[in-house]
Amino acid sequence: MSILERAASGPAVVTAGPLGRRARLDELVRLAAASVLWLSLLLVTYWWAADGGIRDLGGWAGGLTSTGRLTGLVASVLLLAQVVLMARVPRLEAAFGQDRLARLHRLVGFTSFNLMLTHIVLITWGYAAGELGRTPATLWGLVTDYPGMLLAIGGTVCLVMVVVTSIKAARRRIRYESWHLLHLYAYLGVGLALPHQLWTGQQFMSSPSRTVFWWTAWGVAAAAVLLFRVGLPVRVSLRHRLRVTSVVPEAGGIASVYLTGRHLERLDVEAGQFLSWRFLGRRGWTRANPYSLSAAPDGRSLRITVQAVGDGSAGLFSVRPGTRALVEGPYGRLSARARTRPKVALIGAGVGVTPLRALAEGLDYLPGDAVILQRYTSEPLFASELAALAAEKGLRVLPLPGRRRGPDSWLGDGVGTADDLSVLTYWVPDIADRDVYVCGPERWTDLVRATLTAAGLPEDRLHLETFAW
Ligand SMILES: Cc1cc2nc3c(=O)[nH]c(=O)nc-3n(C[C@H](O)[C@H](O)[C@H](O)COP(=O)(O)OP(=O)(O)OC[C@H]3O[C@@H](n4cnc5c(N)ncnc54)[C@H](O)[C@@H]3O)c2cc1C
Repeated sequence: MSILERAASGPAVVTAGPLGRRARLDELVRLAAASVLWLSLLLVTYWWAADGGIRDLGGWAGGLTSTGRLTGLVASVLLLAQVVLMARVPRLEAAFGQDRLARLHRLVGFTSFNLMLTHIVLITWGYAAGELGRTPATLWGLVTDYPGMLLAIGGTVCLVMVVVTSIKAARRRIRYESWHLLHLYAYLGVGLALPHQLWTGQQFMSSPSRTVFWWTAWGVAAAAVLLFRVGLPVRVSLRHRLRVTSVVPEAGGIASVYLTGRHLERLDVEAGQFLSWRFLGRRGWTRANPYSLSAAPDGRSLRITVQAVGDGSAGLFSVRPGTRALVEGPYGRLSARARTRPKVALIGAGVGVTPLRALAEGLDYLPGDAVILQRYTSEPLFASELAALAAEKGLRVLPLPGRRRGPDSWLGDGVGTADDLSVLTYWVPDIADRDVYVCGPERWTDLVRATLTAAGLPEDRLHLETFAW
């Protein structure tokens, strides 16, 4: 359906109350989540101190054991926070957004892992009466004599595997699928650590309030995963029964997939968001791939636009009409909910322009208040659709064509030789006063972020998504 047809058949604009209301709510949710985490960390530290943790710091061996206990407790809280963060809890997803969640995930993940290793080393060292030479034998004793310790070692091995394959240099060498499969072992790793806390952790069972705290934390984490990673996607897929209606080639190596389904008006999705897709009947259908909506949802149909980069995406070009699609999501904060200003700028590169194209259609704005800067090498995606949006809604379209100017520029050689900041502020002088939505490859978005920061854009008005994992 063309944009003009869509316009004729009803408004596709998402109007969600006064500007900034949802953004403020999201801020509160982020604050509440951070408070729960910090309070939990404070509480376990208080319990550690109440159990004589500070007093024990006085002696060498006791100090090692005591510090080992504290690092273990903090690592446990952070590991559980990590599980909840990645459980795709809709409220957290909406409040944090994909970019922030991914950064937090790395930070909390690496911190909890380092603390967990420190816990193992210090506890063993302390139990070996502070003598380094006795630690191997002590470790062996701990693993064989204490209940749950063998499982905990298994859990540690799983987490080591996940963390090693997540280090950027290693990650670049493996396929996404292999990395993702290995990453699932993190759940096993966290799960296997539970019994040793239950059976040997003095903090766990020494008072009813501690027992309640830890069981609640574990219960919430497990329930979040089951409910939101398994239950909700099954429910959404069964409820909406999405089917492909057509596959239409766009620019070279890119095609749009149109879908329809039942009760799509009740699917809680907005322009700019993405879903994880599985198209049934294809080889490798069990693997989900994330794709953003490339048109504002109109309650009757959905559209994604896909660039062929590997087997999964290329396979979509031959998907037949009628093919069923299973989805997880919608996810992401690259939508109207993040908006606080009347004026917006959309900056995208290559196929990263897909969610921005949907936003240009779905956002509410006055003529001239929305501008899209589209970076491409030779052929712009959605050229005629953006021209139609320019005519219908007053969208300003600024093409950024050409080969990349250099490793430190996000602009193409079609814009002259002035530096990135000068070019941006020449085209959009009030850029710092807008909400700016950015989508593209990781390195490219890093450069755009740096230019926007230099232009004075506050961090909370930059809404960014990369097509990276
Ligand atoms: C939030 C988000 C939204 C996206 N939206 C779009 C979109 O609208 N249109 C589009 O063409 N592409 C989009 N992508 C990228 C798209 O998901 C990948 O290109 C696609 O999954 C590649 O799968 P493949 O099997 O063809 O390639 P593979 O051969 O498996 O991988 C090729 C490369 O694609 C990337 N990739 C593979 N699987 C994933 C995955 N599940 N998540 C992230 N990256 C992956 C990796 O960098 C990998 O090296 C999006 C990615 C993310 C994270």
